[in-house]
Amino acid sequence: MIQIKHLSKTFQNPDGSTITVLKDVNCEIEKGEVISIIGPSGTGKSTFLRALNMLEPPTTGEIIVDGENITAPGYPLDKLRRKMGMVFQSFNLFEHKTVLENIIYAPMELLKIPEAQAKEEAMELLKKVGMAQKADVYPSSLSGGQKQRVAIARSLAMHPEVILFDEPTSALDPTMVGEVLSVIRQLAKSGLTMLIVTHEMRFARDVSTRIFFMNEGIIYEDGTPEQIYEHPVHSATKAFVNRIQKLVYEIDSDNYDFLQIHTDINRFCIKYNITGKQDLAYSLLKEMLFTHMRTFRPLTFRLTHTELSDVTALDFMVEGLNDSPLTDAARESIHPQVKELIEEQTTRGFRVKLII
Ligand code: ADP
Ligand code: MG
Repeated sequence: MIQIKHLSKTFQNPDGSTITVLKDVNCEIEKGEVISIIGPSGTGKSTFLRALNMLEPPTTGEIIVDGENITAPGYPLDKLRRKMGMVFQSFNLFEHKTVLENIIYAPMELLKIPEAQAKEEAMELLKKVGMAQKADVYPSSLSGGQKQRVAIARSLAMHPEVILFDEPTSALDPTMVGEVLSVIRQLAKSGLTMLIVTHEMRFARDVSTRIFFMNEGIIYEDGTPEQIYEHPVHSATKAFVNRIQKLVYEIDSDNYDFLQIHTDINRFCIKYNITGKQDLAYSLLKEMLFTHMRTFRPLTFRLTHTELSDVTALDFMVEGLNDSPLTDAARESIHPQVKELIEEQTTRGFRVKLII
């Protein structure tokens, strides 16, 4: 359905220097594929999506869609835009139009669909994304997750063959990521061709037929979720997919702002989908700090999580210490839900790590 050949994009900076963001991107996308694009920031993922629908015309290369070269001079871009919808990180809704007006605008203007029919279809789509009850309100009264669901419905209203999603959940509060991902999951099952730039590793694994790992302006590795996550060929892919998310605190006294830590742990657990571990993490933190390690200050506390392997750890590092801060009694009283207790001497000091 889509063939991309030797695509490159070079930007000219205001000072005359240039930056080549896409170097040589080649791929083929079949109808009905759901492709997640992952990779470090600044590697050209957004530029790639924008080049695909000619919001950012490529510097060199060809993009063939349904047998037609859309990069050829004079190719009618409105035809392409009807085939290919785009959902942005920042929603891009019209603030002065209601939800329903946002959705019917393009079908009426560009597809010349009569108003009554456009409204009927719009209501169906709003039901599909769970927003029918908000049809007559303005976007400003909606939460981020609701805005994004409206933006998805708006894109669907054009009956696209392909939808491009550019980090659709990155601007959302963690509590709202789930509702948007579940709408995208539903769409993925419907046979629509989709390309999704995302940082949500587990979502990408569950929803995709294929993953592109972008790095340094090229598709560095391309494969099924299993290949990319379990058996990556390149070490850069492996490092990226197994990267560790963390919260870090330097705790110097018992007057530390624990309310803030509690709030952060809460958000962290929602963000990485480990709310089941939240209470345990917080109670272990308090137990360690105020009972077992109360005389050891300052110390560095880190809460870490590896999304893909689902390993969460609380890590306490006391600089310059040469022996474990834990007594035998402390070790024995450790919570039964702790899977592993690791005590290790490092060059920095002594580390106690609880895997939960
Ligand atoms: P990603 O989405 O992977 O984070 P982007 O495609 O947004 O990466 O950007 C890749 C690089 O291209 C960045 O270094 C960015 O600063 C640069 N870039 C993007 N758009 C422009 C532009 N219009 N002009 C100049 N540089 C740009
Ligand atoms: Mg981007």
